[in-house]
Amino acid sequence: MSVNYAAGLSPYADKGVCGLPEEFDSPEEVKAKVEILAQLIKDSRHLVVHSGAGISTSSGIPDFRGPKGVWTLEEKGESPKFETTFEDARPSLTHMALLGLQRAGYLKYLISQNVDGLHVRSGFPRDMLSELHGNMFVEECEKCGRQYVRDKVIGVMGLKPTGRLCDVVRSRGLRACRGKLISTILDWEDALPDRDLNKAEEASRQADLALTLGTSMQIKPSGDLPLITKRKGGKLAIVNLQPTKHDKHSYLRIHGYVDDIMKHLMELLGLDIPKWEGPTICQSSTRTSECKADVKPHQSVTVGCEGEKGGEETRSRGVNGHWGH
Ligand SMILES: [Zn+2]
Repeated sequence: MSVNYAAGLSPYADKGVCGLPEEFDSPEEVKAKVEILAQLIKDSRHLVVHSGAGISTSSGIPDFRGPKGVWTLEEKGESPKFETTFEDARPSLTHMALLGLQRAGYLKYLISQNVDGLHVRSGFPRDMLSELHGNMFVEECEKCGRQYVRDKVIGVMGLKPTGRLCDVVRSRGLRACRGKLISTILDWEDALPDRDLNKAEEASRQADLALTLGTSMQIKPSGDLPLITKRKGGKLAIVNLQPTKHDKHSYLRIHGYVDDIMKHLMELLGLDIPKWEGPTICQSSTRTSECKADVKPHQSVTVGCEGEKGGEETRSRGVNGHWGH
């Protein structure tokens, strides 16, 4: 089951520049530039990566402003092609390479604008990840803040109640929290989640290298975070096919498919790309033995709150749809 994400958002006039032509560096240029990128990463003290929709297109999830993006097609009165559902989508090579970079100690923090949940489902530790626009698989208690990662999409957007209640028990003998669970997906007018934004800003201040993958950086404030790193004296490296809003601030700019670039990069760094063995949720980078794989349907992977059957079907716009209908 999938969620009609784009159509589930309120109408919004300014979707930025859509459908700009893609550019491709020659194979020789790509080779030379990835060598520079590998050296930048080896020399870095604190690498932070910013990911956008471009890293999930090879997983079958359309982007927004690419030639076949959701908003680009919307301008032409067309609908995007969706080749998978969120539940069936597999992390791309880039998602897995980022996990490899984190495990090798190079990647210190990951900031994503993506709501597809693929970073979390790839097993990337959640304490090193900010999901600035929410996650289709995560619902949050509005009372105590506890987040629940589900194995099915929540089916509700715009921070609205999901119909389930928090079952956290703070200490033995006390009754459960019972706060309302709400979607973590932002609508256009919603403020970014404080916790994730604060951590993302702090990481951007600490960083001496910001690498952006598959984002045109048009959405504020997410798209401007790499500039914090630049202002603090760090470098900005951009991998994207279309021009981005901050090309002029970049030290290195690679026009190519992110999966190709990351594959080549990992080879140069002598790192393996971890294999994906199904959805794996990792809450903490220091307690990886507790990472949970192979989640059963309707089962919570944080605490044992069973997803209520049919919870995804409580809103008509939440079923069976794809983006941009
Ligand atoms: Zn709670």
